[in-house]
Amino acid sequence: MVPEKDFLYSCTKASLEEWCVKRTFPKFRSDQIFRHIHERLAISLADMNNLPKDLKAALEEDFYAPSSKIDVISGSQDEVEKLRLELFDGEFIEVAVIPMGEKRTLCLSTQVGCPVGCRFCASGANGLVRNLKCAEIIEEFLYGCSRIGGKCDNIVFMGIGEGLLNTSELFPALEKLTGDFGLSQRRITVSTSGYIPGMEKFAALKREYNLAVSLHAPDDATRAKLIPDPLRYSVADILAAADNWSENSGRQYTLEYTLVAGINDSVDHALQLGKLAYRHHAKINLIPYNDTSSSFKRPALRDIERFEEAVASTGARVTRRVEKGKGAAAACGQLRAEKLNQGDK
Ligand code: SF4
Repeated sequence: MVPEKDFLYSCTKASLEEWCVKRTFPKFRSDQIFRHIHERLAISLADMNNLPKDLKAALEEDFYAPSSKIDVISGSQDEVEKLRLELFDGEFIEVAVIPMGEKRTLCLSTQVGCPVGCRFCASGANGLVRNLKCAEIIEEFLYGCSRIGGKCDNIVFMGIGEGLLNTSELFPALEKLTGDFGLSQRRITVSTSGYIPGMEKFAALKREYNLAVSLHAPDDATRAKLIPDPLRYSVADILAAADNWSENSGRQYTLEYTLVAGINDSVDHALQLGKLAYRHHAKINLIPYNDTSSSFKRPALRDIERFEEAVASTGARVTRRVEKGKGAAAACGQLRAEKLNQGDK
């Protein structure tokens, strides 16, 4: 479905000014609208209390303001809160608000569905519907901030979708988040399943964002059990692309590793992974599989601990993801999958 209007939440100062002139509103109104969005983090015209009614009516006529709405909120603010957003075309995506001590991290989506189709992931189960627009990503951010009551501390693009397959919308959203919204590049992490053409574009930006590469296996045969063709690249090529990103950004990357029982959780896998990470100066983040309805299983705690110890014995830096939000349908894409399974869209 083609959008019928422009999106207010990707407007620039200049485009708002132009719109005000075209609609014969005084130019200072564009500053007010811009400040409402970027300083007060307003996600609806109702929150923009000093704008006259006729201006709000004109904005509503010409723009999606916003284009999405919260459909469901699950979880809790002291654990993980998940928002399912309904988009202008009736599609659904997810945003997670994750507390870490005093800090708040937002986990945002980049696509509706995902074409990579990792076998353990609810988001990829039904393929790709479409890419998100830059404004839809900004609206995710603003909805997340509205739940926090202010600007988030960190953003991770680890929600639904392979962000580096949507660089034409993701990169402008990154620029807007770090420009107009003033977030530090170092507080934003882009995750990839190892999509090399996208990693090359990300490296060419020469910015200080973080890169998280979902490796999930230290060798190609094991990786093939988790990630299907045709969007699976070889481990060696992925690490070469990540090294290139590292040279361009001056930053160390993280290897994300979802631990799945009986697939990639042996001591041998751990030692291979540790040696690879050590050689490539990468950090490792272990993510014990979050049981969904797939046939994969989470390893027992003693196997997770044994794996972590074996990785650490190689000298590689390894952490285990702090697990929160089991009650909030925590695994990526579960809330959207629940909606799809209801068959009401
Ligand atoms: S894990 Fe990420 S890349 Fe893989 S299918 Fe899910 S959303 Fe896509």
